[in-house]
Amino acid sequence: MSDTFTCANCGGTFGKGRPDEEAAAEARAIFSPAELAAESVVCDLCFQLFMPALPRLRAEIDQEAAASGLSTDERLRREARA
Ligand SMILES: [Zn+2]
Repeated sequence: MSDTFTCANCGGTFGKGRPDEEAAAEARAIFSPAELAAESVVCDLCFQLFMPALPRLRAEIDQEAAASGLSTDERLRREARA
């Protein structure tokens, strides 16, 4: 397993600062299972920038889902496959 990852947001390559399992546990505490499936790996800085926007992003996804007649979870699953 690589000890670096590429941030999906800024495209930077970073060393993993902590065990994957710890990061995964933290992610499970924040995101729903469907959101986790759609999640991309981002660096800590992008994550911190992203977190304040999370309620707005969730509201946007809810609106898109409602507009397309899908549940929010189904919408996220489709995005994860895209
Ligand atoms: Zn980043």
